[in-house]
Amino acid sequence: MGRRPMTQGITVLGATGSIGMSTLDVLRRHQDRFRVVALSGNSRLDRLLEQCIEFQPSYVSVADERSAESLDIELQRHGLHTIRIVTGVEGLELISGLPQISHVMAAIVGAAGLRPALAAARAGKTILLANKEALVMSGQIFMDIAQRHGAKLLPIDSEHNAIFQCMPPVHEQAINWRSLGVKKILLTASGGPFRKTPLEELRFMSPAQAVAHPNWSMGRKISVDSASMMNKGLEVIEACWLFNCTPDQIEVVVHPQSIIHSMVEYIDGSVLAQLGNPDMRTPIAHALAWPERIVSGVGSLDLFAVAKLDFERADFNRYPCLRLAMDAMRAGGIATAVLNAANEIAVQAFLMEQIGFTDIPSVIEERLARMPSSPSDSLEAIFKADEWARSDAQQHVARLMN
Ligand code: NDP
Ligand code: MG
Repeated sequence: MGRRPMTQGITVLGATGSIGMSTLDVLRRHQDRFRVVALSGNSRLDRLLEQCIEFQPSYVSVADERSAESLDIELQRHGLHTIRIVTGVEGLELISGLPQISHVMAAIVGAAGLRPALAAARAGKTILLANKEALVMSGQIFMDIAQRHGAKLLPIDSEHNAIFQCMPPVHEQAINWRSLGVKKILLTASGGPFRKTPLEELRFMSPAQAVAHPNWSMGRKISVDSASMMNKGLEVIEACWLFNCTPDQIEVVVHPQSIIHSMVEYIDGSVLAQLGNPDMRTPIAHALAWPERIVSGVGSLDLFAVAKLDFERADFNRYPCLRLAMDAMRAGGIATAVLNAANEIAVQAFLMEQIGFTDIPSVIEERLARMPSSPSDSLEAIFKADEWARSDAQQHVARLMN
């Protein structure tokens, strides 16, 4: 193997979240290899302060001036006088393009992560992409910007990381995988907490029940997306962009144990799978060190304890959000941005107990039916579609509340 790389600088966007915390846990084990140059947080300032004390970054990014002032008082109290505090979207964009970093962990949840991820792409960084919503919103534009500026996209989403590991070892993003013998992608899904819930009871499911994922511990938004399988829908779209394929080349396989993280089938009948304990530190460590391997803190997979792996077909009656997402990808244009925005509003309303669990697909479906027809040929068009879908979905939520 080649020489050991020098210390590499990294920005962790969304450091205070579930992926952010797992990332810092891996980085903590490799301080000789990585230096945390910048961190970002939003509402959890206490946690961000602890992270600043431990990692002593050069920059920290918070939502606004008010948060900056209160964090500054605490940093000074702890004798941390050299950390520069930046704010808002501009702050996030700044720390995503710093000359002293090579890697950006994109782990902000939702559409808020798009602009900073694009800034990292424009700066030609290696982007460790957890924030799938960014790609769902801006697919082609994001991929084009990354390619133009020599940015590398490494998937953190466990399924996409698994697919990446099972694909032939060529790393141009726009490759035609079919010419290399790839037949299809088998995208695994756990089925979430409501896999066995009687269909007529789904509408009574509470936020607490929806976020209680059987295998993974994650942020609240993605946990609800896993219960509705919108998460798998967003992942189909994400896979289409990352692996240059169509929804018809992807098969969703419900695999309740979450031990196989996805598979790639070849024309000779071979099916390659990546397995491991369901712990995001494995894909995080894989992407951080790629193409090398480093320890992640994840224990060995005990196949004897797992004993059995099950597979089922995904049922669109149980998971209408999966169908909506696949249809939006086929429709193209602004449809996936509209889908994503409507879903974000619906999930937030569900978490605030303003609408029921089965209202989520209705709010999304109605936006897709009503959306103005428009190409997604510019970022402006995408942000406009996002804004329209949010306000239209908000009105639907208001009607449901009355
Ligand atoms: P969390 O909710 O745990 O964390 C989200 C992070 O984003 C937090 O740091 C949060 O700050 C920050 N954030 C939230 N809103 C904003 C905003 N408006 N502006 C700036 N920062 C903001 O989510 P997860 O870590 O679970 O997920 C992050 C991303 O990774 C999502 O896109 C998700 O789909 C994806 N992902 C997650 C997986 C998982 O296992 N958790 C697996 C695969 C993908 P704060 O907490 O301080 O408010
Ligand atoms: Mg996933």
